[in-house]
Amino acid sequence: MQTKFVVVLGSLMSGLGKGVVTSSILKILDYYDYHVFPVKFDGYLNYDCGTMNPYRHGEVFVLDDKSELDMDFGMYERFLEKDLKGEFSITGGKVFGLVTSKERRGDYLGEDVQIIPHLTNEIISNIEQISSRNKLDVLVIEVGGTVGDIENNYFIEAMRQLSLKHKVVFVNLTYVPEIGPSSEQKSKPTQLAFRSLMQLGIKPQLLVCRSEKKLDQKVRKKLALFTNLNIENIIDDQNTRSIYELPLNLLSQNFDKLLLKELGLGGRKINKKKLSKFKERVAKITNPPKDTVKIAIVGKYTELQDSYASVKEAIIHAAANQNLGTEIAWINSEHINGKNAKNVLFGMDGIIIPGGFGGRGIDGMIDAIQYSREKNIPCLGICLGMQAMAIEFARNVCMIKGATSSEFDKNARHKVIDIMVSQKGIERKGGTMRLGAWKCKIKSKDTIAYRAYGSNIISERHRHRYELNNKYARALERKGLIISGTTTDGKLVEIIEWKNGFGIGTQAHPELKSRLSNPAPLFTSLIKAAHKRAQEK
Ligand code: GLN
Repeated sequence: MQTKFVVVLGSLMSGLGKGVVTSSILKILDYYDYHVFPVKFDGYLNYDCGTMNPYRHGEVFVLDDKSELDMDFGMYERFLEKDLKGEFSITGGKVFGLVTSKERRGDYLGEDVQIIPHLTNEIISNIEQISSRNKLDVLVIEVGGTVGDIENNYFIEAMRQLSLKHKVVFVNLTYVPEIGPSSEQKSKPTQLAFRSLMQLGIKPQLLVCRSEKKLDQKVRKKLALFTNLNIENIIDDQNTRSIYELPLNLLSQNFDKLLLKELGLGGRKINKKKLSKFKERVAKITNPPKDTVKIAIVGKYTELQDSYASVKEAIIHAAANQNLGTEIAWINSEHINGKNAKNVLFGMDGIIIPGGFGGRGIDGMIDAIQYSREKNIPCLGICLGMQAMAIEFARNVCMIKGATSSEFDKNARHKVIDIMVSQKGIERKGGTMRLGAWKCKIKSKDTIAYRAYGSNIISERHRHRYELNNKYARALERKGLIISGTTTDGKLVEIIEWKNGFGIGTQAHPELKSRLSNPAPLFTSLIKAAHKRAQEK
């Protein structure tokens, strides 16, 4: 079958949940057993997200294949439940790079190289290659940014041209605001936004309206009139309790049938088994939980929760699967110290120290870890969090004064965490960390790690330059730290644990592979330990 395309465009403003809509479309097509993958266009001139600040752009999502991508890829993977590939991310940086290197090679000899057709052709040929290489039934493309941005206009033009050659269905996500004391929903911004897309030569077949409350029938009628669309093609995207409800909300409006009709796909029935399993899982999030656990995320980027998007989802997955609710406390580690840790962390059933870069806020993380170790609050350290756990243990249990990481102090005497040998001498920053899926060997069955994973060999995704300095490994072990996981050659420490209570730190990012149907094992263990502690309180 020749690949067909769905292109998702966002109007009016960012933050409407274009990633969730795209993910829901992927999920719906997957319910019909179509082979689908996403592609995301991002207009920035970075090659990828690896060099961006999570504080500005949100979490950097890492795939098995070592690519560092936009956080939307986390959402796609969590919905579609398939491992994705780096080639599915097409950025301005990548396509401009391809075109200029072709120009230098002489591929366009004699021509003046232009956005149209050279750049747009490059985008289209990338899309066609991805579709045929992966033998896709449908490719769902999310255009990053908002219609009208300078950054993404060449991507939108490329999609218009794609629709001249292939079957393309355009889905437009827009916003219907409410105003005044009666909270009247207003359709005018969407009318104008739709018109501006038509000026670009694109007439969306489906209009998804993001709103606080259910879309008013009057507004739907008005939008149908002004957009030339049938009223059933005006789709309601009101607030839901959980993002995982959106595919179900769309199905309840026959979005699946409308989309398949527009794509010219018919005849297949929805896979009821897949759908009912998903419904059961979503109900676990939306049903009133049996109990709630309070989890603190103590990190330095907590003001922008998107920086820890996958950590948050992994908590939700693990808790839902145990019929538990969660309350997440976002705690800026710069606001914690040895004196106030007790008050700040009061009432928490579990603590997560997530990943990060640089020394800012590290002391607060160490104080939080010390408090949780001494007061028996379950603790999970992720990447930088694991490194902070090792430093805390070195300082407060092994009494190694000034123990730290060379990331924070190059001239420190006790570099308990040090740059990896393989990283020494690397000057270039883009794509050079230890990235992607790496195997880890778990030492003994009598460890938190083994109990969580139930296997001796595991694989998780990584993104780091520093490691536990093996020179200090024995000293830490002598005082009771358990090194429960290493790389398969035994050279690099992957997992550490406390002997007493629940404390585990991993050099990997287990949150990146967590799915609602298959939560990350270490998160499941943390939530279990936290629940146990909550019951003992
Ligand atoms: N900054 C640390 C390192 O590079 C931790 C990285 C992370 O948390 N992802 O090793």
